[in-house]
Amino acid sequence: MYLYNSATRKKEPFVTHTPGHVEMYTCGPTVYHFAHIGNLRSYIMEDVLEKLLRYEGLDVNRVMNITDVGHLTGDSDEGEDKMLKGAKREHKSVMEIAKFYTDAFFSDCAKLNIKTPDTVQPATGLIPEFITMIQGLLDKGYAYVAGGNVYFDTSKLPRYHIFFDHDEADLQVGVREGVEEDRNKRSKNDFVLWFTKSKFEDQALKWDSPWGVGYPGWHIECSAISLKYNGEYLDLHCGGIDNAFPHHTNEIAQSESYLGHPWCGCWFHVHHLNTGDGKMSKSKGEFLTVSLLEERGYDPLIYRFFCLQSHYRKALMFTWENLDNARGAYRKLIARVAALKPGGEPDGEILSAQREKFIRAVGNDLNTSLGITAVYDALKLPVSDATKLAVLEDFDKVLGLGLLDRAAKKRTEDARLAASATASGDMTVEGEGDPEIDALVLERARAKKAKNFAEADRIREDLNARGIELTDVPGGVRWRRV
Ligand code: AMP
Ligand code: ZN
Repeated sequence: MYLYNSATRKKEPFVTHTPGHVEMYTCGPTVYHFAHIGNLRSYIMEDVLEKLLRYEGLDVNRVMNITDVGHLTGDSDEGEDKMLKGAKREHKSVMEIAKFYTDAFFSDCAKLNIKTPDTVQPATGLIPEFITMIQGLLDKGYAYVAGGNVYFDTSKLPRYHIFFDHDEADLQVGVREGVEEDRNKRSKNDFVLWFTKSKFEDQALKWDSPWGVGYPGWHIECSAISLKYNGEYLDLHCGGIDNAFPHHTNEIAQSESYLGHPWCGCWFHVHHLNTGDGKMSKSKGEFLTVSLLEERGYDPLIYRFFCLQSHYRKALMFTWENLDNARGAYRKLIARVAALKPGGEPDGEILSAQREKFIRAVGNDLNTSLGITAVYDALKLPVSDATKLAVLEDFDKVLGLGLLDRAAKKRTEDARLAASATASGDMTVEGEGDPEIDALVLERARAKKAKNFAEADRIREDLNARGIELTDVPGGVRWRRV
């Protein structure tokens, strides 16, 4: 399998420290608000990656943090404390906010068929480990105390800017208009490992430490959590592209300095989901969530399908029209799967040949759109329905599109609609058992038959306004609420 590695800026064969075993780490959500569908794009693509690794027979240990402490929107003592902001907004404690949005995150993930990682560690549960790591960095001379805070000393590193070539001006980490630079730092890229002096007097969560009562900086949690659950050698580190710098750069700085050897073999970054007005952002307040998609009648798996149609290393543009196109394609696909007749023995040889082809296609830098193409190709194979269903079920272990599950639901639904059909003369109306709608649908069908198109259109518009979708079927019309 080949993956693009952001650290080397090349597509490379994916090699692990221990053959057959993958240590994988994912930067988890900051739980001060719902995840937006941009965040979830990253988690969907990472989920496909994990499933592909397992599909290929590798043993995967996947770890994720939950950022439930801090964090400042910048690297120094500036910006806003996101958790505190969430707590104030909702008149709740920081821990209540964290619990509520952590649960909401995993509920969204379940709806999107995103598997929960093997270990999920909230940052607040591992403060002693963070302190040990910070102390180790101080002992080895990679950190210094200034103005009450502990800083990482980036000047001690032979190599710091690993992901991007930044200009000096860009390297003013976290510096933004109207914010004074942190004068305690020896150089601009230095970052805080532990705060005791913060402008946030009302900081809710504080812990004792050798440097005074305070709280950890932005990056230490991922280095320490990964060290505890993945061990000293990490094979694969994932996150959205905005995390690459400075967050991942600083994770590498901390972990490699602490361990004294190279740390992570491959860096996987998912590019952003954008809306017409730029990057999606939680802090802007208004954003798209899975619940919103559901309210508007979209099955969350349509969003997963939409994400899989594009490559993870390209920015993806979200519009409702694009999502509607994905919905149309997904529904047609499910209808085709539903039309296959279950039962009978699948052909094992075809199955393993298809599996190999699928791995070659998707295993080339997680080419999920080729994975979807493989699904359509399988539907066209000159083989039994049982074999097709077995191939689709197998591919879906990686794609997670609910192909068989949604097809089974569609079959049940169609059978229910057919059972409630109302016959009237030579016309049948299949629907959800609402006589008023049945009557209108019939009236429209009669108007159409009599070439009274204006009347037929008027009734159709009335039905559409009530959320009724009409489909012509042999001998009549089928309706359903959408
Ligand atoms: P956060 O909850 O802000 O810590 O972000 C959770 C994950 O979502 C991180 O891996 C981010 O890099 C990623 N992310 C943030 N915004 C987007 C976006 N618009 N598109 C894709 N991924 C994103
Ligand atoms: Zn992280």
